Amino acid sequence: MRVTTAFNRLLRLVGVNVTDVVFGVDTVVVTVRLRRTKLVCPLCDYSTHTRYDTRPVPSRWRHLDLGSWRLVVKADLRRLSCPEHGQRVEGVPFARHRARFTGDFESLVAWLATKMDKAAIQRLVRVDWDTVGRIIERVVVDELDPRRLDDLFEIGVDEISWKKHHNYLTLVANHRTGKIVWGHEGKNAKTFDRFFDELGEARSAQITAVSMDMGPAFAKSVRKKGHAPQAVICYDPFHVVKLATDALENVRRAHWRQLWDLNDKTAARKFKGARWALLKNPEDLTDTQDATLTRIRRSGGKLWRAYQRKEELRAIFAGDLNNQEVADMLDRWCARVQRSRLEPFVKAGRTIRQHRGGILAAIRLGINNGRIEGLNNQVRLIIRRAYGFHSPQAALALVMLTCGPIELNLPHEQT
Ligand SMILES: [Zn+2]
Repeated sequence: MRVTTAFNRLLRLVGVNVTDVVFGVDTVVVTVRLRRTKLVCPLCDYSTHTRYDTRPVPSRWRHLDLGSWRLVVKADLRRLSCPEHGQRVEGVPFARHRARFTGDFESLVAWLATKMDKAAIQRLVRVDWDTVGRIIERVVVDELDPRRLDDLFEIGVDEISWKKHHNYLTLVANHRTGKIVWGHEGKNAKTFDRFFDELGEARSAQITAVSMDMGPAFAKSVRKKGHAPQAVICYDPFHVVKLATDALENVRRAHWRQLWDLNDKTAARKFKGARWALLKNPEDLTDTQDATLTRIRRSGGKLWRAYQRKEELRAIFAGDLNNQEVADMLDRWCARVQRSRLEPFVKAGRTIRQHRGGILAAIRLGINNGRIEGLNNQVRLIIRRAYGFHSPQAALALVMLTCGPIELNLPHEQT
């Protein structure tokens, strides 16, 4: 078998013939020619036999590595004139428009991005992190299920910071499937307005419930005419419990500052490690954190009381109480924190009382909190990886790739 024929099979590139193979020091360069004679617009279905000019456009794409060698595919492309998109270099069946990588290479990188940390990917595939960002943006545009915005009934909206210095993404989840179906940069009512604009009035009218945090921004958008004023606004347990976790964090910080001001440096330093011991669920604690928690319990005081209130609230939403019991326990909890002399908890109690109806609505509608919490944790885990990205679009693409309705296949799994 001739080398070019062997490479034709090896590369699995659609619609090309290999005409030449050159082995370099660490790179194999494979020259190919498109089999089709028609020129196809890279942006639409338009095809023609007419070339715009006779000048060839030398083009190259990185393909899957061959062992430790980089593999580069080269081809001379032609220009065409599309009635809609104007003068363009013809599209190729094996790579996306404007990509310097083949589709197979991009599939591999996208798959790795959902599984591996930044340093490992960069080292394995030898591309920088911004390039990974651009690759996954292209893959998401192509692979995201276009019907993901149809048949939305119960949805959840939330904001997440994807970078330091207040860079936020607003994400919308479909509660029935547990997938993120929409996202955009920003975190105010206007950001959520864009979601309804994209959804349109007919699909918005189908929405029966929207879960969110207790801030006013998202609710304001839902209430607008043409959006989903018919939907029940509910506050999911995840966000309710978060109020108590934040309050506990405030009590902890105040306590730490007090130690510091008293010039008890050793105690203050020792105490710094208490953060996770207090915030994590007790069943997830490491041995050290468990010991820290025991110490806090023994010394009692404000901090231990704050911790107990947080755990009590969490227990109310653990899922083993009926609706009436949840309502009763929640009222009792609010009354208790009102007398607690823990200022952050007094405030949390007040907020919960103000939003009582929406909180109980989430329970009544059976908005699955385990699923919300799971999705939230998954998004928070993946978003840390997006910190190094250049753009919110790349960060969003990573979220959609991992938590969206996308089926990622490795090159050898594709048909
Ligand atoms: Zn076109």
